[in-house]
Amino acid sequence: MAVYSVLRYYVGPPVMVVTTCVGVQYLAQVGGDGTNSWSMLGDAHSWTVVLFTLLWALLSLWVPGKVFSGPQTHFGYTPVYKANGFQFFLVSLAAFFLLVTCYPYVSRDIFHNFQNILASCNILAFVLCIYLLVKGKKWPESTEAIESKPLLYEFYRGMELHPRLLGVDVKQLTNCRFGLLAWELLVVSFFLAGWEKNGFSMGHLVCATLQTIYLGKFFWWETGYFNTLDIILDRAGYYICWGCLVFVPSLYTYSSYYLVAHPPQVSASTATLFFILGVCAILLNYRIDWEKEHFRAHDGKCSLWGRPVTYIEAQYKSATGHKYSKLLTSGSWGVARHLNYTLELLLSLAWCLPGLGYGVWPFLYVIFLTVLLVHRVFRDEEKCRAKYGSAWDKYCKEVPYRMIPRVF
Ligand code: NDP
Repeated sequence: MAVYSVLRYYVGPPVMVVTTCVGVQYLAQVGGDGTNSWSMLGDAHSWTVVLFTLLWALLSLWVPGKVFSGPQTHFGYTPVYKANGFQFFLVSLAAFFLLVTCYPYVSRDIFHNFQNILASCNILAFVLCIYLLVKGKKWPESTEAIESKPLLYEFYRGMELHPRLLGVDVKQLTNCRFGLLAWELLVVSFFLAGWEKNGFSMGHLVCATLQTIYLGKFFWWETGYFNTLDIILDRAGYYICWGCLVFVPSLYTYSSYYLVAHPPQVSASTATLFFILGVCAILLNYRIDWEKEHFRAHDGKCSLWGRPVTYIEAQYKSATGHKYSKLLTSGSWGVARHLNYTLELLLSLAWCLPGLGYGVWPFLYVIFLTVLLVHRVFRDEEKCRAKYGSAWDKYCKEVPYRMIPRVF
C-alpha cells in the first residue's frame, strides 16, 4: 500500500507531466517536414495565434446570451455555462475562412510553426494550472471540503470541480471553447497546408471533413457535455486542463498534421469509402446518445426501435435527499452498456485510415482513444455503481457486455 501511495502521489504526477510535455513536442517533430526550428518559449507568431484563440474563446463566453445550468454537485453547487456552442463553432469557422481568404499563408505558417504553437500552449496551460492550484487552496468557488493531498498530486488532479475565471467556467473555456476550437481550426489549416504543398488530396479532405462533422456535432450538443465525467468528476487541474489546452491540439489533430508532410497514398474512391464508414459511425453514435436523452426527457414513457422501452428503476442520494432515475435496458442501451464508445472508435478509425501505408503514426489518435475509452468505461461504471448500487448490478446482469456484444 505504501508503495502504491508513493507511486500515485509522488512519482506518477511528475512522470506524467514530463513525458506528456516532451511527448507532444516529439510527435510534432516526427510528423513535420523537418524544416522548422522551435523554442520552448514559443515565438511571436505562436503567441499571437494562441492568445488570439484564447481571447476569441473568452469573448464567446462573455457575450450576452442563453445560459445553461449544469447538474448540481453532491455539495449543492450548480455550475452555470453559456449555451451558444454551435453559433460559436459556425462563426469561428466563417471568420477563419475569411482570414485565410485575405491571408492565404495563414495555414502554411500554422503548420510550419506547430511546435512553437504547442510550446506556447504548454506555457499557457502551466500558468493556468498553477493559478487553479493556488485558487483552489486560497479562494475556492464553493463550500466543498476538498481533501488535502500531496501538492504535486493536487496540481495534477486539480482542486476544484467548477472553478471560474474572468467570469467564465474554466472547463467550458479550456475543454470546449479553446481545445475543441483549436482542434477544428488546426485540422482545417493542415488540410489547406497539405493542398498547397502536395496538391489536392481526397484522403486529406476526408480526414478533415469527418473531424469537422464530428466537432460540429459536439458543439450542437455542448450542453449535454456538461453531464459527462469530464465535467462532473474531473477536477480542473493538469489532467483535464493541460489535456484540453495542449494534448487535444496535438494528438487529436495528429492524423491531419501527419498527412501534410506525408501525403495520403489511398485512392479517391477508397477515401470515399472511408468517408461513408465515418459518416455512418457518426450517425449511429449520435443516435445512441440521442436514445438515452430521449428516454430521460420522456421519463421512460416512449418507444425505441418500434417498441415501448424497458428499464430498471434506480434510486440515489443527492445533496437534497433521495432521487429517482431509470436505467434504459432496450434499444442500443440493451445491446451493450457503452455501444456509443464503440462507434466513436470506429469513426476515429475512419478519419485515420487515409494515412494507410505510413505505419502506426497516422493511427496514434485512435490507439490513444481506445485506451482512453476502455479506461473510461471502467471509470463510468465505478461512478454508476457508487451512485445506483444494486440497480446498477441488475442492469449489468441484464446487459452483460460493455462495448461489443459477446466480446467485451
Ligand atoms: P455516456 O453518454 O455513455 O454516459 C454515461 C452516463 O449515462 C452514465 O454515467 C449514467 O449517468 C448514464 N447511463 C449509463 N447507462 C445508462 C442507461 N442504461 N440508461 C440511462 N442512463 C444511463 O458517456 P460519456 O458522457 O462519456 O460520452 C458521451 C459522448 O461523448 C459519447 O458519444 C462518447 O462516445 C463521447 N466521448 C468522446 C470522447 C473523446 O475524447 N473523443 C471521450 C469521452 C466521450 P447518470 O448518472 O446520469 O445515470
